[in-house]
Amino acid sequence: MSPVDQTLKEREERYVMQTYKRADVAFVRGEGALLFDADGNEYLDLLGGISVASMGHCHPEIVAAVREQAGQLMHVSNLFYTQPMVDLAERLSRSSLGGRVFFCNSGTEANECAIKIARKAAHERGAENPEIVSFESDFHGRTYGSLSATPGLAKDPKLGPMLPGFRSVPFDDGAALEAAVGPGTAAIFVEVIQGEAGVFVLSDETLKLARELCDRTGALLILDEIQTGMGRTGSLWAYEQGPARPDVITSAKALGGGVAIGACITTEAAGEVLAPGDHGSTFAAGPVAASAAMAMLDLVDRPEMLRRIRSLGTTLTDGLMKMDGVEAVRGRGLMLGVELSEGMDSAGLNTELLSRGLVANAPRPDSLRLLPPFILTDEQADFALTTISEALSDQ
Ligand SMILES: *Cc1c(COP(=O)(O)O)cnc(C)c1O
Repeated sequence: MSPVDQTLKEREERYVMQTYKRADVAFVRGEGALLFDADGNEYLDLLGGISVASMGHCHPEIVAAVREQAGQLMHVSNLFYTQPMVDLAERLSRSSLGGRVFFCNSGTEANECAIKIARKAAHERGAENPEIVSFESDFHGRTYGSLSATPGLAKDPKLGPMLPGFRSVPFDDGAALEAAVGPGTAAIFVEVIQGEAGVFVLSDETLKLARELCDRTGALLILDEIQTGMGRTGSLWAYEQGPARPDVITSAKALGGGVAIGACITTEAAGEVLAPGDHGSTFAAGPVAASAAMAMLDLVDRPEMLRRIRSLGTTLTDGLMKMDGVEAVRGRGLMLGVELSEGMDSAGLNTELLSRGLVANAPRPDSLRLLPPFILTDEQADFALTTISEALSDQ
């Protein structure tokens, strides 16, 4: 590992708004599961730009789709028809809820669309002050709607006021959820598996209850699949493995294989709610992003690939569980939260891993998060396990 060039660091601090604390490395190239710094040092990437490069970096088929489309047509806006956009909408609809798709450019925007649908549908059935219910440690994004549904971050008074009409209950607490939902509820809006919180799986029991509560009140069940979707948990969408069919799912992150794109995907009924003028986006599903997403779906949405994700997940989980210093492994497929033994510090361990050529993430002091690419080879999985085990014994 080579430390970042001092002048690059100084210019970053001078010119880039200081909203991120960055690790001490600058990447210049990626290939498959590997990243390289300017000195040619190699890193195995078990984070994939936070579950974005799920088919690895610069996958040749995604690069080819982007190159070809970029040379043909990059942007015309949504005032006109473009075929890649329609192809992608049809594909996403058929792969999930069967209704319509609203496109946008990020995860938080996909959630903004879901919030609009929920509020408008609630008004249409006569709810005057529609309320959206989430879990306390959910993460839904950084724009004000999504942020208002992200209780852990919405608390900062200096960023207030938040939007009205949001309420939260403790994670996976069925009784609290039931008490919070009523005729004024517009939506239950939750992650199937919490990602940013450190990988916590919502129980089937609570998910089933959420569906029942929505059916009883007319609220929409909105599942944020921005991190869990696109194959990450071993099915194209995480909800497929659970007991509840949602009314709306949101997708982004891996959807474009590295190109920015988001989508809000609905059932037929929820797809009727928004009308001309209700919502829009200049860049959404431009030909380049839509072509990248089609290439990504061609690669991910195949039984062999989804099987590989599940088996790699089992291999990594079994290997991690055997290690001294690992208390538990949470998650599903290739979305893993590794709970460390008491007294261990995940941030320190994560820095140590980076210095040994492994890119991971420490979302909370007691846990590492791994979001490996689906194309990880058996040898790379072995290297990852050996490196984590060695770093743990040096802690
Ligand atoms: C990353 C993420 C978001 C926000 O996506 P952005 O593209 O950063 O706006 C929202 N929800 C979940 C579950 C996420 O993981």
